Amino acid sequence: MARRHGRFSCSSAGSGSRTPSHQTQLGIRCSQGVRRLGTFSPSIVIAKLLLQKLWKLGLDWDEVPPDGLADIWKDWLRDIPSLARYPVKRRVVPHDDEVVFQQVHAFADASTEAYGAVVYLRTVYRDTSVSTVLITSKARVAPVKPLTVPRLELLAAYLLTRLVQSVITDLRLSMQDVYAWTDSSIVLAWLRKSSANLKVFVANRVRATQEVIPGKSWRHVRSAESPADLASRGMSPPELLLSTLWWEGPPWLKSSPSEWPPPLTSPTPIEVPELKHVAYVTSPEVTWELWKKYSSFDRLIRIVAWLRRFTHNTRQIKERLELAKTLTAEELAESRLKLLILSQQESYPELFFEGHADQSKTIPSCLARFNVSVDQNGLIKVSGRVRNPNATREACSVIPLSLKSNLCKLLITTSHYTLSHPGVSILLSVLAEAYYIPGVRNHIKLLSPSCTFCRRVNAKAANQKMGLSSQSRVRRQLHPFAPLVLTSPDRSSCAEGSPLQRQEVQKNGEQAGPACRGLAHLLP
Ligand SMILES: [Zn+2]
Repeated sequence: MARRHGRFSCSSAGSGSRTPSHQTQLGIRCSQGVRRLGTFSPSIVIAKLLLQKLWKLGLDWDEVPPDGLADIWKDWLRDIPSLARYPVKRRVVPHDDEVVFQQVHAFADASTEAYGAVVYLRTVYRDTSVSTVLITSKARVAPVKPLTVPRLELLAAYLLTRLVQSVITDLRLSMQDVYAWTDSSIVLAWLRKSSANLKVFVANRVRATQEVIPGKSWRHVRSAESPADLASRGMSPPELLLSTLWWEGPPWLKSSPSEWPPPLTSPTPIEVPELKHVAYVTSPEVTWELWKKYSSFDRLIRIVAWLRRFTHNTRQIKERLELAKTLTAEELAESRLKLLILSQQESYPELFFEGHADQSKTIPSCLARFNVSVDQNGLIKVSGRVRNPNATREACSVIPLSLKSNLCKLLITTSHYTLSHPGVSILLSVLAEAYYIPGVRNHIKLLSPSCTFCRRVNAKAANQKMGLSSQSRVRRQLHPFAPLVLTSPDRSSCAEGSPLQRQEVQKNGEQAGPACRGLAHLLP
């Protein structure tokens, strides 16, 4: 590439009559073309597609390509020098005093073989004239692994996003001046959805695209009016030189916005692919949430017993039970049983049919390793492989409950208070005699910190640090030659001297012990 008179010109060192002998030569030629400004992408992509076809054939490096591919290569080498005749303007941004505003219009398109994107700068001048200049473009071959056309269109949109990001950074434009165009209504539908609703491949690229160009900036254009269509299908160099669509964009780009293709207010009524499949599971919902209003399992049992007596009396007026001031033990037991069944119905709805437990139903995974049975009261029970020959089957089975149920939590909390705030092991063993509650140990561990009584009983006594001794008890000898002697009102705490000397100090009074007398001749 040479730079002459303020314009870029392209030249090729290749010979049109030369037959490629191996893939290396093709690779070198292609890389030379790729290094250009990207303005000749429709012609460059032909060589890229040729290289990919050779790769798919699995030819060795020194094998001669088939005649058909060799002819394409010869034609391409013959035509590529013609691109040197097209001068590319170096200055694409006019002087500021002539410009009213500038816009970036980017087009993306894909075919089954390649996809590409091209970016134009649309400038409106003070004299109301409009110019459109090709800034850059890029074309890539489709991956060897087959992809659907909508996915390839999305790859083109993602490529467009990266090109636009670099252009607006270099030209110091804002994202408000960007218009992105694609001919894929499916891509438009994807870009207006949340990436959370899309499958992984599409979601990742939609998210990356939306971060740069919001969905509202994307518009629909017919494929015939999209210059990116040339980059995705390839175009011979002589045809590319004459293509006004490629160098200046679609004709309507120089018109007022009212003449542009109208934006799609909503995606066309198509079935948008690549959406996540959301399964809606309906389960019998227990609407009776009385237990959420009380904090004691025993109190809840009594309330339910009173309610059951009330409903029984109102339904059977003729055989009204003898009203008593207190509830009977049978009423309390039946109320407790009904509450446990309701808790199981809430936790294991798949085991219930029309309000009744049925062990022939699908057993939930958390109970799959147990023998599940339904007792005569309609309560689900589970048992393991341990059998006590002296006990009945009912005695060897326990009631499964789930911590998802608020009633199960009420039962554990009430047991904690009933057993006088026991430790984890005691409460665990008591509950295990009658219930199987997965994860109950961790739940019990959290009970004590939340219980006021347990927190007060288990509180640790504060450890006070020893205070500092007062100055009257500890002082330093002021004489410069005196050894460091710590004195105290009690003579036994005189710090210097051997134990024998300290004993003599105690015997001879407070003035002159042997240690003090031995040091006396050192004093002036
Ligand atoms: Zn407690």
